[in-house]
Amino acid sequence: MKPRILLAAGIAAATMTACGGGEQASQVTADTATEPTEIVITDAELEGNPFRDDWDTPFGVQPFESIQDEHFMPAFKKGVLEMRAEIDAITNSPAAPTFENTILAMEKAGDSITRVLYTFSSLTGTELNDNLKQLQTEIWPMWSRETDAITLNQKLFDRVVAVYDQRDSLDLGEQEARLLELTHRRFVRAGAALTPEVKAQVSEINAELSTLTTKFAQNLLAATKAFTIELTDEADTVGLADDFKANIWNEDKSAWVLTLDRSVYETFMTQSENRDLRKQMFDGYTNRANSGGLDNGPTLIKIAQLRAQRAELMGYESHAHYQLETRMAKTPQGAEDFLLQVWRPGIERAKQERTDMQAMIGDEFTFEAHDWWHYSEKIRKARFDLDENELKPYFDLNAVRNGAFVMANRLFGLKFQQVNVPVWNDVVTAYEVRDDDGSHLGIFFMDMYARESKRGGAWMNSYRAASNIGGNEIRPLVTNNMNLATPPEGEPTLMRFSEVETLFHEFGHGLHGIMTKIDYPTFSGVDGPRDYTEFPAQILEHWTSQPEMLELYAKHYETGEVIPEDLVERLLAAANHNQGFATTEYIAASLLDLRWHMLSSAEAAEITDADAFEREILEGYGLIPEIEPRYRSQYFSHTFAGGYSAGYYAYLWSEILDADGFNAFKEAEDIFDPATAARLKKWVYQAGGLKEADELYRNFRGADPSIEPLLEGRGFAVETTGGP
Ligand SMILES: [Zn+2]
Repeated sequence: MKPRILLAAGIAAATMTACGGGEQASQVTADTATEPTEIVITDAELEGNPFRDDWDTPFGVQPFESIQDEHFMPAFKKGVLEMRAEIDAITNSPAAPTFENTILAMEKAGDSITRVLYTFSSLTGTELNDNLKQLQTEIWPMWSRETDAITLNQKLFDRVVAVYDQRDSLDLGEQEARLLELTHRRFVRAGAALTPEVKAQVSEINAELSTLTTKFAQNLLAATKAFTIELTDEADTVGLADDFKANIWNEDKSAWVLTLDRSVYETFMTQSENRDLRKQMFDGYTNRANSGGLDNGPTLIKIAQLRAQRAELMGYESHAHYQLETRMAKTPQGAEDFLLQVWRPGIERAKQERTDMQAMIGDEFTFEAHDWWHYSEKIRKARFDLDENELKPYFDLNAVRNGAFVMANRLFGLKFQQVNVPVWNDVVTAYEVRDDDGSHLGIFFMDMYARESKRGGAWMNSYRAASNIGGNEIRPLVTNNMNLATPPEGEPTLMRFSEVETLFHEFGHGLHGIMTKIDYPTFSGVDGPRDYTEFPAQILEHWTSQPEMLELYAKHYETGEVIPEDLVERLLAAANHNQGFATTEYIAASLLDLRWHMLSSAEAAEITDADAFEREILEGYGLIPEIEPRYRSQYFSHTFAGGYSAGYYAYLWSEILDADGFNAFKEAEDIFDPATAARLKKWVYQAGGLKEADELYRNFRGADPSIEPLLEGRGFAVETTGGP
């Protein structure tokens, strides 16, 4: 079976990188009940189903033209039955458990289901329709129960343990030893080693959590939708840009309608000159789902309590201890200590920003939380005089993409050649990627434009994972997705600088998928500890603004002139504007997430008031009243409805690695330094999950990461003295 799918109760988490931390709602959370479904499927239902055929397309790419929505469910069911038969063959084998007949056999199982699910999860990200939406609600819960049934299969686990216990005498290769280690770990962490009584209790808790996290998400959605402000008087729109006003205009109501969508909220809070309305919006946003029938307080307390109970049953101090055991941070205290090192300079900067804004306001009124966005933007304009439209002509998509390819060539020797292969949408372009020795690495797709059927944001996913078992080498099919606006016919696609950074970011995930030299799907790809996997993506963002790179790719689309230096300087100077606020609101939420999950079962049982708990925690860290955490508890869906419990800190953690990692090139005084690039290639982009993340990093860097480059990157003075 292919654990990248198997591990993930929600496949979105498995085959897609979740970048940027939007308010994602995975279809299925990690908390699910176990009960395999009875499946019946006839040969007639499979007739003409392309998932049952061999694909003789170039590079074995999916024959997209032949795949219809109605092909998924029958192929999925057949794939499940085949996988069950493969697992049964392992568990019922009369032969003594060996690495080959147990661990390797599991790794090979599930081929047909894997191909269906990789296709399904990828296509539902970009070509979603009502049929596929309906299928999502059927396929993912079934799949989740199926995978739970495998990890809690006692006979299978007994065989895994039998092999694991002989590991020192098996004389396994490095990759095989790692596969055994990770397979055993996956079973143990799912609860396979518990007694039947405790397993039953854990299952009970999982089922209850599944219901509660769904309720949390539904309450939040309803509460968010319940709040609107209708503006009918043009005077109330003072400050709002024309394109934003056009966006929020509602013809039926003859009014501009304000909602709590993050983009509407941020834009309004930034642009509106009406202080009373800003306060109304702020109160609406920050008090979502914390009173009345949609109050998430009792629900999230119960979620925290159940997670703490489950952790205790599994032998852990807290849910955070369980979650962090396999991450780089290792312990909740490790994560908290790290956050506080950035928190202290961050909040000092935020206080300075507050002072600056009060100075701009003068004596007229006292600056408050709902003024932050608005005055921060006023200061940015006054200080940096930066207009996005001045920059965009230098960032034409074709040139930016070529810049990324040239970077990959100069760092790693890769070559990209556009190829004609089947694609799922006409806007998609495809490239064959070859290694420095000319060998084929995989196919890289770019799907860059927004459309109705495509989810928002930017991400990387795979149509096929890499593997090389028994001499059968399969190379990956990797995709980068963005949501750029389609330009008018014949016009170039001009990008904002932040979009250029995003393109390089996703390209980094893409290279992590495509350059792998790992033979086993369990650890051949981009997944790994949450606080590590953003590193290969984030580090490439550093190249976007290097003068040598800009000369290569940032050229005016009409004149070919390289972007002027003063424009670059203003761009870089503005990058750290308002960093105190951004750092503080993010870390406040990260600390809140950690502390909810650092509670022991007994401590959690004492909590009755979510607001009071939150206030006590944040005041304890010295949060200032003008800043709210990026997510308050009642609308913190990452942690109470998504897969980020005790993990929201991970975005910043990865930043230690990318800032410190890029410093290796700076120390070599060459952003393409061959020796540094060779180590990065070998120990990061080619290595998947071959070793624990901290070991991979040390092999690349020759040392543990240092936090100073991150602090410098954010424009914070580095603390040089230890304090109490
Ligand atoms: Zn990412």
